[in-house]
Amino acid sequence: MQNNTKHKTICSYCGVGCGIIVEKDAKGVLTVEGDEDYPVNKGMLCSKGKNLNYVAQDTTDRILYPEMRWSKNHPLQRVSWDDAFKRAAAVFKSIIDKHGPDSVGFYVSGQCLTEEYYLANKLIKGFIGSNNIDTNSRLCMSSAVVGYKKALGEDSVPIAYADIELADCFLIAGANPAWCHPILFRRLEKHKEQNPNVKIIVVDPRKTQTCASADLHLQILPGTDVILFNAIARILIEKKKIDKNFIKKYTVNFEDCKTSAFQLTINAAAKKCGIKAEDIKKAALYIGNAKGFISMWTMGLNQSVIGVSKNVSLLNISLLTGHIGKPGSGPFSLTGQPNAMGGREVGGMANLLAVHKDLNNPEHRKEVSDFWGGKEIQAKPGYTATEMFNALDEGKLKAVWVICTNPAVSMPNVNKVERALKKASFVVVQDISHNSETTEFADLLLPAAGWLEKEGTMTNSERRISYLPKVIDAPGEALPDAEILWRFAQEMGYSGFNYNNASEVYDEYCLLTKDTSIDISGLSYNRLKNEGSFQWPVPHNNHPGTPRLFSDFVFNTTDTKAHFNAPAEIYNQSEEINVDYPLILNTGRVRDQWHTRTKTGKVKRLLTHIPAPYLEMNKIDAFLRKLKEGDIAVIKSRRGEVQVKVTINYDIREQVVFLPMHWGKILNNDFGRANNLTNDIVDPVSKEPDFKYCAVQVQKY
Ligand code: SF4
Repeated sequence: MQNNTKHKTICSYCGVGCGIIVEKDAKGVLTVEGDEDYPVNKGMLCSKGKNLNYVAQDTTDRILYPEMRWSKNHPLQRVSWDDAFKRAAAVFKSIIDKHGPDSVGFYVSGQCLTEEYYLANKLIKGFIGSNNIDTNSRLCMSSAVVGYKKALGEDSVPIAYADIELADCFLIAGANPAWCHPILFRRLEKHKEQNPNVKIIVVDPRKTQTCASADLHLQILPGTDVILFNAIARILIEKKKIDKNFIKKYTVNFEDCKTSAFQLTINAAAKKCGIKAEDIKKAALYIGNAKGFISMWTMGLNQSVIGVSKNVSLLNISLLTGHIGKPGSGPFSLTGQPNAMGGREVGGMANLLAVHKDLNNPEHRKEVSDFWGGKEIQAKPGYTATEMFNALDEGKLKAVWVICTNPAVSMPNVNKVERALKKASFVVVQDISHNSETTEFADLLLPAAGWLEKEGTMTNSERRISYLPKVIDAPGEALPDAEILWRFAQEMGYSGFNYNNASEVYDEYCLLTKDTSIDISGLSYNRLKNEGSFQWPVPHNNHPGTPRLFSDFVFNTTDTKAHFNAPAEIYNQSEEINVDYPLILNTGRVRDQWHTRTKTGKVKRLLTHIPAPYLEMNKIDAFLRKLKEGDIAVIKSRRGEVQVKVTINYDIREQVVFLPMHWGKILNNDFGRANNLTNDIVDPVSKEPDFKYCAVQVQKY
């Protein structure tokens, strides 16, 4: 009889990227525990990670074989993989011949492994000849990408988790890491317990679990972040709490930052933000006196119509104080998904090119297309996430291939997305689970292998690349996503897709990174398997990896300086609040659910924390509407409505309400689908949607 086997892998949920040891017994039963040797989590796992064995072993919801329908009026029917590839290739070829390469697109996911992301990108940009590939990461961190590029010259997270234990001041803005990045937050909590002088400032319209550890909670009005960060910058400048030497030697455009920061007095800024001027001064003092300062942020800044302005105004604070490239210091965008970073590295977005090369640069395009040996890469960016579904709705995009994501729940203004998917000539959905609402729209449904069922790599929030092994066989006829992509490319007749395994895809990608700033040509699968995870760059075979970037203060801009940026907007540009829609809806995650619940929704013990969607509302707003705890409320926006129970407290600001983003139709009959309400306007540069601010009315059902 076979003995128990142990396998080191990585959690498939959030961007923290915790190490997990999976044990498989002789009967194939799986157990999981935190990997004590893994530097990220040192044995800890949150509730979601601890229950991953149930998700992996429950195959009742899994898509087991390819299914296809000949027209929208026909039901899906089981087909062979050969027939599925033939049909997909025939339809794609016919649409491309008739309408051109920009009539097809791929919509992928920050949960794809790096090899899968790389292949999808290569396929459409290098061979189909269109840049129409975007990802649910667009909904998550594209404003941070633009912010980093503007300030540092490249999309490079400069710091490591190990810097947390070296810092003495943290500004956590628009994030609830206590629930959404739990293990990272446990490290921060422990650091504060051991060092009570450490200061934590939280910026959030809600008093979340993260605030329990805060020295200062700045409960601002939604959309006023830039005003707050500018006010902090002004105080730092006025009180001479800036690093003049750093600014002079290593930055440019200080005056732009100063001019923007001095537009409002501190009192005027405090009034706009809806907080006390004294609290802004206190925050600035904490930051100005810190030896190590880290800012952390997620969707509260990124998912905004002024997301880039919010990012650059926060980044300015790190540059003013010289807190970058030093131990315990740096601006730290926390990624939501396990491999959003890997996707950014391979250029898996409509406006990016592989290995951080520039889509606007003809030489860069030629380098990549020569390397791939396919078509010339187009200069024109492809459709971003919201543009892609708008183009489907308008008939400009005919076919879409959705991989490992559930846009029928996760996209803003989702009723429009459903309409677009119904109108599409051809929809391919490649996923693991029938629990994805998007499968309803598939003309071709392809069963993918899930976590533990395929090998590949992922990069977490601190640029740490890890290897995930195949531990169990996929159920039915499910195949690894990478294999599905290379077999489709072969069926299309494209050369350069003759892979036998994911390792060959990874080796090719590593070669492409050579001599770039994200060089991992020294990081083979063998090194990852034998020596563990590494933070990029890893440019040669003996290189130990790079925990901290910019420690020489040489940045990736053309002049090698870090750039201050005046935010394009200091005032919010979201839709109008008026008498018909007088409240501001904020959406977000709850502790034990993940994205659209296709996985966490299967685990009973994860439903004990928060079993159903709810509307969080301030007591005064509830009183005005005669709503009591547990009443059903109807929430209406200019785009749709939902009905959920109300939870009433003083933790959320007056005039603001909160709805979790996880619930969709299949498991909840559409009553709590937050994105019925949200707005699909986007930041003009990052194209990230304004999820965090939509005007609503709430009434008793
Ligand atoms: Fe998984 Fe994130 Fe929890 Fe770690 S913190 S166990 S990566 S969900």
